[in-house]
Amino acid sequence: MEFFRGKCKEKNLKITPQRIVIYKELLHSKDHPNAEILYERVKKIIPDISLDTVNRTLLTFSKIGIINIVEGYGEARRYDPHTENHHHFRCVNCNSIVDFDYKPYDDIIIPENIKKRFSVFSKKVLLEGYCNKCRKIK
Ligand SMILES: [Zn+2]
Ligand SMILES: [Zn+2]
Repeated sequence: MEFFRGKCKEKNLKITPQRIVIYKELLHSKDHPNAEILYERVKKIIPDISLDTVNRTLLTFSKIGIINIVEGYGEARRYDPHTENHHHFRCVNCNSIVDFDYKPYDDIIIPENIKKRFSVFSKKVLLEGYCNKCRKIK
């Protein structure tokens, strides 16, 4: 929450009770939810909130770097409360996305030709396959 408050202050974003609830719900979500899923969770706390508000709030948060948008896979945007460097495993069957840390991936070397063409500030490794649940069904 300190990170949240600090960022809002730095970017002049008013800290409202609604924004706090939305951020907290995302922070406690381990599944990288999209706006609709998060809206269902937030609604339990703020019954009269709209999906549009949740949507807009999440976009605002990601714009100022409070949260991250997970790379899209042709589905609705999904959000990640963890902005520090980490990596993802994605199940191609159920679309679950799980965080993991692995130091050697953080230290991955950027190819020279990429360095020449782009300025890279984030390195993420994405592993894809079947999660444990889906592996059993397959
Ligand atoms: Zn799965
Ligand atoms: Zn993540």
